[in-house]
Amino acid sequence: MIEALPPVGVPADKVLAELRDLRAADLPTHGGRLFAYVYDSAVPGLDELANAAYALAAHVNGLDPTAFPSLLALENVLVGAAAQLLGAGPGTAAPEVVGSVTGGGTESLILAVKAARDARPEVTRPRLVVPTSGHAAFAKAAHYLGVTLDQVPVSARTLRPEPGDVAAAIGPETVLVACSAPSYPYGVVDPVAEIAEIARVAGVRCHVDACFGGWTLPYLRRLGVPVPPFDLRLPGVTSISVDLHKYAYAPKGVSILLHRDPELRRSQYFAFAGWPGYTMVNPVLSSTRSGGPVAAAYATLRYLGDAGYLTLAERTLTAVRGLADAVSGVDGLRLLAEPESTVVCFTGTDPGLDLFVLADELTRRGWHTQPQLSYAGLPANIHLSVTASVAPRVAEFGADLREAVADARSAGPVELPAELLETLGVLTPELLTPELVAGVAAGLGLDPAAAGRPPERMAPVNTLLDAAPIAVRERLLAEFLGLLQRPGYRADARPGC
Ligand SMILES: *Cc1c(COP(=O)(O)O)cnc(C)c1O
Repeated sequence: MIEALPPVGVPADKVLAELRDLRAADLPTHGGRLFAYVYDSAVPGLDELANAAYALAAHVNGLDPTAFPSLLALENVLVGAAAQLLGAGPGTAAPEVVGSVTGGGTESLILAVKAARDARPEVTRPRLVVPTSGHAAFAKAAHYLGVTLDQVPVSARTLRPEPGDVAAAIGPETVLVACSAPSYPYGVVDPVAEIAEIARVAGVRCHVDACFGGWTLPYLRRLGVPVPPFDLRLPGVTSISVDLHKYAYAPKGVSILLHRDPELRRSQYFAFAGWPGYTMVNPVLSSTRSGGPVAAAYATLRYLGDAGYLTLAERTLTAVRGLADAVSGVDGLRLLAEPESTVVCFTGTDPGLDLFVLADELTRRGWHTQPQLSYAGLPANIHLSVTASVAPRVAEFGADLREAVADARSAGPVELPAELLETLGVLTPELLTPELVAGVAAGLGLDPAAAGRPPERMAPVNTLLDAAPIAVRERLLAEFLGLLQRPGYRADARPGC
């Protein structure tokens, strides 16, 4: 049993030992066996450097760049590096690009939507056009900012939106059109050139979400991969985002949002002087924020350099091709798309092979993949975000995949009770009482008493979610998380002293 506020302080080595103990239950952040959440370069010495840089700036506050000019300088050079990688800077068609360092991709997208919304104060009911394959963070931005989300379908064949459908979705209240380079679910690049041109002609801003692939596509292109134009070289692109904590291999907490010129960025800022405290001006969502992630990102970019990223992209590409071959070679599996960036995504072609059971079989063998649910005519699938650290593991994965498929076939698909499926089909979020949710959670092994520990088998959970209507999926997810997030109290603590 752990507790955060002991009656008297605990020695440093014991505290660190406790933390190491807790970390032991986590998925492995290094070693090339986790295909989501983490991005591992496997470059020797890089972690140590990034951690030391992080520590140097952990207490620096981004609230006021005049108080901590080191942070301002670091942010300016990070923004410059991202801008140059994405086709901007002196002597280019986008010489006036400016930007901000944010805490992550979601924050970058929220700010892109906010800037677009606030630049059009005359629009009383602002709308945002995004393909369904656009990141969920756009929906979150729309929800937080009171903007209506207009989703454009993606074709089950190309996994991309049709430019004509994007054009048709734009109306007088559309403040922003967004697309992905590439989309997170499938790793395919949207027809950015066409979409950006449609937006330009309509007089609407266009944001390219390159949070996932913005740091690899330029390098893949240099390696000969046919990468279509997607960045600030396209005149219709008014803003673009790239996460440094993904393929720039920086520790968590850094993304970049770029605008084509300072005028486009103006409405992103928030300033307030109407109170008796310090005058406040924030470019991003947080006010106080640590310099740690920014310093760590700077150290990572400097240590790897352009040549380092090219090498890492080459390793990643080798891994992607190897994994894709492994998947294609297994009877009953099919690539959803020929990989064109750093994602390998596959589905099943045989009802006797349950993908969610397969994901569990892979987990049992130490491979942590990301199952994605079926949505709007797009099949359930398994997603692999591939990083440089995976390259030496490809052969091992191929062998384990074949075994896992054989075992998943013999185990057979998850069968939920017919009456449960029937209930799910007609369920609405309002019908989900706390008792009902608790019962379902217990039935699935999501026991709050075992908080922090996922159930051994996720297939029943995924099957249930997959069978539920979207609004019920969302409500169940929120309820399940709410069951896990319960405070840990100390038995002997006295309140309020
Ligand atoms: C990861 C990702 C995001 C969200 O980024 P976070 O850093 O998780 O907030 C947005 N868009 C794309 C394409 C992504 O891959």
